[in-house]
Amino acid sequence: MSREELVFVATSDLAGLVRGKGFPASELDGRMRQGVGTTASNIMLSAFGPILSTPFGTTGDIVMLPDPAAVMRVEGDGGAAEHLILADLRELDGTPWSCCPRNMLRRGLDALAAETGLVVKSVFEQEFVYTGVEDRPGASYSLDAFRRQGVFGETLTGAIRGAGLSPDSFLAEYGPRQFEVTIKPKLGLRAADEAVMLRELIRGTAQRLGHQAILSPVLHPDGTGNGTHIHFSLWTQEGAAVSHDPKAPYGIAARIASFVAGVLHHLPALAAVTAPSVASYYRLQPNRWAPVWSFLGCQDRGAAMRVAPVFPGAPEQAATQFNIEFRVADAAASPYLALGALVHAGLDGVRRGLELPPEMPEFWSLDDAGRRAAGVDELPRTLDAALDRLERTSVARDWFGPTLFAAYLEFKRAEIAALADLDPVAICNRYAEIY
Ligand code: GLU
Ligand code: MG
Repeated sequence: MSREELVFVATSDLAGLVRGKGFPASELDGRMRQGVGTTASNIMLSAFGPILSTPFGTTGDIVMLPDPAAVMRVEGDGGAAEHLILADLRELDGTPWSCCPRNMLRRGLDALAAETGLVVKSVFEQEFVYTGVEDRPGASYSLDAFRRQGVFGETLTGAIRGAGLSPDSFLAEYGPRQFEVTIKPKLGLRAADEAVMLRELIRGTAQRLGHQAILSPVLHPDGTGNGTHIHFSLWTQEGAAVSHDPKAPYGIAARIASFVAGVLHHLPALAAVTAPSVASYYRLQPNRWAPVWSFLGCQDRGAAMRVAPVFPGAPEQAATQFNIEFRVADAAASPYLALGALVHAGLDGVRRGLELPPEMPEFWSLDDAGRRAAGVDELPRTLDAALDRLERTSVARDWFGPTLFAAYLEFKRAEIAALADLDPVAICNRYAEIY
């Protein structure tokens, strides 16, 4: 029997899951113009599957319009090829749909460019657990763990490059069977598209090898988390790096300081978007290399935002290498919403002329009361608290637009309610099945 290639057109939705529809590749040209139909309430499909709550009911047709700039194709090697095209969600008249996650990011990037002339360059690092290896105590970062994953790393690296992304690193991470993959940073929307693609390349490669990649924020309430750290820097539209000034506090150039201050200021509310599952808050606990304070630190992996180091050996590259790492994110977040919220929050900092707090090298020697007295905000300890914080952030309504803002809060509160009878171990298990 002859086989016929299928294309899958999709978005990364409110649950951070890639959902859409497939059709024969031979119909691609027409579909690129006309798109693929879906219904408004599909954006409310919960992480667990069923639509738990929706403001849209059964009415409303939406078009998923594939973007030729967001195509990923991986050869099948005897199995099915994976041909994914990421889409914008449009009304039938072609205007952006109010709840399109990708458009939420695009609006932020466009406003930033219009008001500051700057573009965001970013990359999402992805940690995950690979089930194709046995855990061995002491294997963290080891050559042994690196070797025992067999051909997974090389197959994944080939798939990443074949899909048009730029591989950067592959390593055995700290936790049992935990690995991390990074790619090179990209400008604007493309970075979020690539974050969506990278997760699917990780999952798809594991599956082809008969195993599973689990990207959920944490597999056990006391375990090591899977972070999705977002590294970002700002550039002019002409391609000049403007984030670094070695003489400025934190090394952060004055031109972008209010952007970073905006992200820092809004961090507790942003957590509702970037760490958006109930299990995300089992990851954000003390002593896990994951943040609990809304704190900006230089070269500090306990900080919520870490000024990454500039490495020796190429001082002329300091300006282009310099970046800030946002650590309060995980794979339950749609990269569009996560980066979108970060960009909108940064732009709010620019509009309000926010300033960075003074550097606090003494942060870890203070007790909790001392940190609070120094003005450092605690990150929310539950998704519920983060959502309340987001809802109270009046400017956040404009980041999303009123319809998406209300839908997002409803969506996430329904997710919390669906887990109300489960204990933390069972909650981690549920998310691990999905992400
Ligand atoms: N696994 C840690 C997290 O959950 C991060 C470890 C690291 O710094 O790479 O964020
Ligand atoms: Mg890591």
